[in-house]
Amino acid sequence: MKQIAESLTAYLGKGEAVLKEKVLKSSGNVTVYGDSVHAVGNAVVMMCRDEKQKFLLITAAGTKDMPAGFEGETFTLAAGAVAMKGELSEANAAALRRYFPWSAPKSLRNVRTTVGCGDRLGLATIGHVRAAKKVQVSPVLAQQSIRELTMTKRTFRKVVDDACFLVFAADYRDGYGADGDHLKTLADIDTALAAGMPMITLDLSDVMNAAAGDWDAAAVNEAFDRFPAAQKQMITGDYAGKEFVLADDVSVKIDELTAKRCAVMYTAALDFAAEVHEHLKAARGEEFDLEISIDETSSPTLPSHHLFITRELHRRNVEFSSLAPRFIGEFQKAIDYIGDLDEFDRQFKVHALIARNHGNYKISVHSGSDKFAVYPTVGRETRHYLHLKTAGTSWLEAVTVIAYKDPQLYRDMHQCALDNVSDMLKLYHITADFNKIPALSTLSDEELPALMTMPEARQLLHINYGPILTGNLRERFFEAMHKFEADYDDRIEAHFDKHLSLLGVPAAK
Ligand SMILES: [Zn+2]
Repeated sequence: MKQIAESLTAYLGKGEAVLKEKVLKSSGNVTVYGDSVHAVGNAVVMMCRDEKQKFLLITAAGTKDMPAGFEGETFTLAAGAVAMKGELSEANAAALRRYFPWSAPKSLRNVRTTVGCGDRLGLATIGHVRAAKKVQVSPVLAQQSIRELTMTKRTFRKVVDDACFLVFAADYRDGYGADGDHLKTLADIDTALAAGMPMITLDLSDVMNAAAGDWDAAAVNEAFDRFPAAQKQMITGDYAGKEFVLADDVSVKIDELTAKRCAVMYTAALDFAAEVHEHLKAARGEEFDLEISIDETSSPTLPSHHLFITRELHRRNVEFSSLAPRFIGEFQKAIDYIGDLDEFDRQFKVHALIARNHGNYKISVHSGSDKFAVYPTVGRETRHYLHLKTAGTSWLEAVTVIAYKDPQLYRDMHQCALDNVSDMLKLYHITADFNKIPALSTLSDEELPALMTMPEARQLLHINYGPILTGNLRERFFEAMHKFEADYDDRIEAHFDKHLSLLGVPAAK
């Protein structure tokens, strides 16, 4: 490591290009991330790795040239130069963001196509960035829900910091987002905001009255009658018996009962969305992306309901960047779309038209993971004015790397998943028959990776990331992932190439 620092002392202050060219790329067990070499005055900051961990290495011409804010172990070099080895700590992430503002997440509200790249491990950013660079998208590299935080023993701060370090390592300056995903309370939103997350996905499932979707007319009328007179008049006047034309051959009709039902189902949720919007404005000015999520419900969002929600959000002056309806069909974890694709196409087209004609926001497709069958429709009908959210897919790529590279660890992870599956099934809607998965004892090591192309085994490993990452396999897993970092980067890149090409996103300029 000292040799790497010393390879640069003669070139400090001579510019980044020179430093990148002259740096000794590896020495002993230490390797430099070549793209991470960045000049700060008469100092240079870069990311390195040894067989155990990643770390920052800062080399400065003298003590007074050492950029302030970084922490770590310092040592002296020849001719008065100094160096510091810093862990990937909170303080060092904050210092990186100060000197390299592009390493901090930002609002992507003006970007046409955005892709949420859930990264539960904090290791996938380099692969995500490589794929994103090839097409016209901005990635939301940090994205996690509260449940995922618990299952992975992470915090929003850590989720953002992990992305920040790897964005720095990859020298990715085009801007990325960070999403506090599926948040339901102001307290959780505040935690995400404190971690610098500009995107908030507001999950309205707990504040909406979803049950009223199935009420009979008498029950709807009774609940609606309790609204203030002026509000009742406004709702019936604006919606009852109205037809909203979206295109030459597409319109949405709302009858009186539907208008009242929507008011009963959504008014409290819409008022809460307005409160959250004010809160975000106060905290971040215009620098935020609010996503409205109504996808965590048991029945699909009807076009009439989508239209009502959109118009009522605008009436309340809520500026939102994207909205996630619940689409028809099954969007189960880790496997492709289950359902009638023609019907999906027909309904999705209407949702996309509502978004285009009523406020021009992005339709957000929470694909869970690999819903490749619907991608062509999603890309075409939104004209790529879209947010795509993937979650567990990068985790399954990590499991695949382990299946190839460390068969014994894969076997232990698979067994851990089997041991915990009954608990996890209480949290996820999965219809897979896990009995179809062959017993591990009957499979050779070479046969293990094929399990990650089998829907049942994919779902098993997908939903059990919590027990694997919080139990006694945690350390071994992360050690292996560090060892096979390059394989993981390659797999993630190829996997996201597939996502983005099926969406038909135009190539980068
Ligand atoms: Zn969702």
